Amino acid sequence: MKVQPLHKSQAMRERANMPDYDQTAAEFSWAKARDSMGGPIPGMLNIAYEAVDRHVAEGRGSVTALRWVARDGSRREFSYSEMKTETDRFARLLQDLDVKPGDKVFSLLGRVPELYFAALGSLKAGAIFCPLFSVFGPEPVRARMEIGGANVLVTRQKDYLRKVAPVRAALPSLRHVLLVDAVDGAPSDTLNLGALLAKTPADYEIAETRPDDIALLHFTSGTTGKPKGALHAHEAVVAHQATGRIALDLRPGDIYWCTADPGWVTGMSYGIIAPLTNGVTMLIDAGEFNAEAWYDLLEAEGVNVWYTAPTAIRLLMMAGDDLPRARDLSALRFLASVGEPLNPEAVIWSNRIFGKPFHDNWWQTETGGIMISNYASMDVKPGSMGKPLPGIEAAIVDVQDQGDEEGLTFLGAPMTTGHLALKSGWPSMFRGYLNEDARYQACFMNGWYLSGDLAMRDRDGYFWFVGRADDVIKSSGHLIGPFEVESALIEHPAVAEAAVIGVPDERAGEIVKAYVLLNPDHKPDDALRKSLLGHARKRLGAAIAPREIVIVDDLPRTKSGKIMRRLLKARELGLPEGDLSTLEKAST
Ligand code: ATP
Ligand code: MG
Repeated sequence: MKVQPLHKSQAMRERANMPDYDQTAAEFSWAKARDSMGGPIPGMLNIAYEAVDRHVAEGRGSVTALRWVARDGSRREFSYSEMKTETDRFARLLQDLDVKPGDKVFSLLGRVPELYFAALGSLKAGAIFCPLFSVFGPEPVRARMEIGGANVLVTRQKDYLRKVAPVRAALPSLRHVLLVDAVDGAPSDTLNLGALLAKTPADYEIAETRPDDIALLHFTSGTTGKPKGALHAHEAVVAHQATGRIALDLRPGDIYWCTADPGWVTGMSYGIIAPLTNGVTMLIDAGEFNAEAWYDLLEAEGVNVWYTAPTAIRLLMMAGDDLPRARDLSALRFLASVGEPLNPEAVIWSNRIFGKPFHDNWWQTETGGIMISNYASMDVKPGSMGKPLPGIEAAIVDVQDQGDEEGLTFLGAPMTTGHLALKSGWPSMFRGYLNEDARYQACFMNGWYLSGDLAMRDRDGYFWFVGRADDVIKSSGHLIGPFEVESALIEHPAVAEAAVIGVPDERAGEIVKAYVLLNPDHKPDDALRKSLLGHARKRLGAAIAPREIVIVDDLPRTKSGKIMRRLLKARELGLPEGDLSTLEKAST
C-alpha cells in the first residue's frame, strides 16, 4: 500500500507562519534569529528573560501565560506580568539562600505552578535547572541528584520523606530542600518554600548570563541504555523560539497544549520555553492520560495547537472515534507529534478525525529542539518525519571509524539507509554529557553530529525514520528497520501497537520477531495469529516479515511512553536487563 501525500491548500500555506519552506530555508540564519533577542545588558542572553520579561517590557504583560488545570478540574491563571513577579521572587530567594550562578537546582514535582516558577526563576538566577520526572522512585532520584551534583531541590514533603531523606547524607552537595507543601512538623532539614516566598520581595536584577552559559540539565529517556545527562546553554532559546514559530506554527494569543511533562526535554523546550517565547497561553494539565478527559480539555479550552506523542495518539485511536466525534474540536489548528516514529496509520486517522493530520517531528534530548519536521505549509507524507528545519543541515551518512579510515561518506542516492547526521553548531545543541566527555566527543565526526538513528531521504528531500542503530535488524543480507515492520502490523485492524526485534538465527544472522498488542474486541487465537502473519507477509514480503508474532498484554515502555525494544530483546535472549530506572512500571 503506497500512502498518498496529504496536500495543503494554498489558503493553508498562506496562513502558516512559514508560508514557503524552500524560501525560508534559503534565507534563514541563526545569527538573524538571535538578533531579535538579548537581555537588558549588551551581550547577555537568558532563557527566562526571553520567555517572560521581554513580553512585560514590550507591553504584553497582561496576556495569560499559563492556564493551569488541577487534577480536580479547578483552574488558575497567571499573566506574563504575574509570571515575571513570581519568577523574580524565586530568583531573589535563591540569591538570599546564597545560590550562585552555575549551582544546580533540581525539581521533583508534578505539573504544579511552582514547577514553572522554579524553572524560570532558577534560569533568571543563572543556576542550572534540572527537572526530574515526579514519578521516579528513590533510586533514580538519588542517582541523578548525585551525578548531577544537586545543590537545591524543590519538591513535595511526601516525596522528600520517601525518596530523598533516607539518602540525604550521601548527597553532600545538597544545601537546601524547598518544600512546596510543607506542613507543621516538616523535617528540620527542609525549608518551607511558600513561607519563604511570602517574605521575599519580587525584586530581582536578572543574572547577566551569556549565550554559552549552561542553563539546563536533562536526562535522556533511557530507551537504549543508561540515561545520559545532556547539558544545554542559554543560547538554546534561539532555537526554541524559532522552532515554536516555524515548526509548531505558534502565534501570540494561541491556546497551546504540550502534553509532555517538564521532567523530559520536550516538556521543558516545548512545554515552557518555546510557547512562552512565542507569547502564547500555555495550558498545563496536572492530570494523567485519559482519552475522555483529554478530548474534554481540547474542547473546553479551545486548544489551537496541540503537541503530543505517538503513544498517546495510539491510545486515543484505541479509545474509538465516537469520543472525538461527539465534541467540537474546531479550534484545533495544528497538531504535532514527537518522541517515537509516528505510524502512517496514525497520521491518516488524525486527518480523518480532526480534518488535519498530526505533523511528526524528530529530535532528541541532545539536539535540544526540533531538527526535522513537518510544517503547516508543507504537504505531509504519512510516515515521514518531514524536512530539516531551516538553519539545520541534515544528511544520511556512512560512518567509518576504524583506524586511518575514520570519516564520513555522504549517501546521496534517494532512499539509501544510513546514519542520520546533523551539521554541528545550531544554538540548542547539547554542550556535553554530564561527566562523560569521551562519550560526547564520540558523537561528532568531521564537524557533524551523529544521532545514533538510521534514516533515509527521498527524492523530494523528506526524511524517513528507519530505526535506532541499536534496534536495526540484519537478516539474510537485508537491513530491516523495526518501524517499517511495526507500521505494517498496525495496519491490521486487530493491532493497536507493535514492537519488533531481531533474534539471532544461524542461517539468516537474525530473524524478525514481533510483539503485538490488540485492539479491544479482538481475541488472541490461532486464526488471528495466522491472519497477522499472512498480512505481514503480503505487505512486507517473506524476507522482511516477522517469522514469529507474539500477542502480548503489554509492552515495556519508558515512563515517557517509548517502547523499550532493548528490554524485549534482553528478555528474549535471557540477557541482563540493564538500567531500568525509566521503565514505566519499574518498582523502585
Ligand atoms: P536514550 O538516549 O537514553 O536511549 P532516548 O533516545 O529515547 O533515550 P530521547 O532523547 O528522549 O531519549 O529521545 C530521542 C530519540 O527518540 C531519537 O533519537 C529517536 O530514536 C526517537 N524519536 C524522537 N522523535 C522521533 C520521531 N519523530 N520519529 C522517530 N523517532 C523519534
Ligand atoms: Mg537517545
